[in-house]
Amino acid sequence: MVGRSSRRELIATRYLRHDRALTNQALERLLDVDDIEDIEGANDNAEEAVERTISLHDQRIDAVVAAIKNSGARSVLDLGCGSAKLMQAILANTSVEKVVGIDVSYRSLEAGARRLHLDTMTPRQRDRVELLHGSLTYRDRRLEGFDAAALVEVIEHLDPSRLESFERVVFEHASPRAVVVTTPNVEYNVLFEGLTPGTMRHADHRFEWTRAEFQQWANAVAGRRGYAVVVSGIGPDDADVGSPTQMAVFTK
Ligand code: SAH
Repeated sequence: MVGRSSRRELIATRYLRHDRALTNQALERLLDVDDIEDIEGANDNAEEAVERTISLHDQRIDAVVAAIKNSGARSVLDLGCGSAKLMQAILANTSVEKVVGIDVSYRSLEAGARRLHLDTMTPRQRDRVELLHGSLTYRDRRLEGFDAAALVEVIEHLDPSRLESFERVVFEHASPRAVVVTTPNVEYNVLFEGLTPGTMRHADHRFEWTRAEFQQWANAVAGRRGYAVVVSGIGPDDADVGSPTQMAVFTK
């Protein structure tokens, strides 16, 4: 007999459109997928706890949804979608016709499928949404032809040596009209109670950038790939250290 939670897993899994030939062999050979999944589960709560006082997560989602609305996009990619919180907000609050999420963590995608209730969606709703298993550091033709892409708290999980391939995958090959990127502003960490000085907000973060570092990266990418970029802060704006989250909106 199949228990309730494993039945849910089966249902969720059934509704994930993924290419096993490509993903489970290729990805797991190339990446430490299990490491990522274990780290995600263990540390998401820790990062939320650090940031909780100002419900930064919600403010981030609101800001990204507003940027996507502003771009006039009809189709949106959520790159590194995790458990699909942004996808849920886009589906609920915009007239975007198609939202596709991709993540390297299969476990996160299963959580996303449950959050979005993919199994009980009407066929019409179901046509608006798709979850894909894949990595943002390898060219993927499934990401082409979209109006906008969002990367919410994802780049800091990439190894710095993979940032260049990531840039090509997103800005050269997928190449949507608008790309919204959020990442921590490390300068703000001194204001988080409970965060040991000098440590990052999440154990899997490979880096956390100052405002100057993020601006410099954003300008360089925009210059190389033919985009304009505007950087702003999300969350309370401290006179000395700025806002906890920084957001870059790239447009062609
Ligand atoms: N955007 C989500 C999740 C952020 S956590 C949110 O805001 O809630 C970072 C996510 O990036 C994780 O789900 C992780 O699995 C994913 N990720 C890390 N490296 C990746 C890669 N190379 N390709 C695709 N996703 C990746």
